[in-house]
Amino acid sequence: MRDHPSSRDQAQFTGCRFHPERPAVARCNKYEYHYCQDCIEACDACTDPGLYCQHRTQCFIWEVCRGEIKRRRREAACAGPPPGKSEPPTDSPAHSGPESSH
Ligand SMILES: [Zn+2]
Repeated sequence: MRDHPSSRDQAQFTGCRFHPERPAVARCNKYEYHYCQDCIEACDACTDPGLYCQHRTQCFIWEVCRGEIKRRRREAACAGPPPGKSEPPTDSPAHSGPESSH
């Protein structure tokens, strides 16, 4: 006998998307994901920060994180492509000198 079975007509309370054991403090209206305080503060809560979101004007997550998200986007734009290894191709003929037969 815990509580009335029909008392909750809303969706079941969901924990954080990444930390189900933590209580969620915000929800992404677009994807209906819930996020805990840590995820909000770490700005891990916005699923598609680069995409248009019609809920953004009233999104708590975006309100908190838009500064950080914009900064990350700016850095990403400045950084260009991710730095790859500058190893020469291995199939290039490195030793093409006059190697006499011994
Ligand atoms: Zn979390």
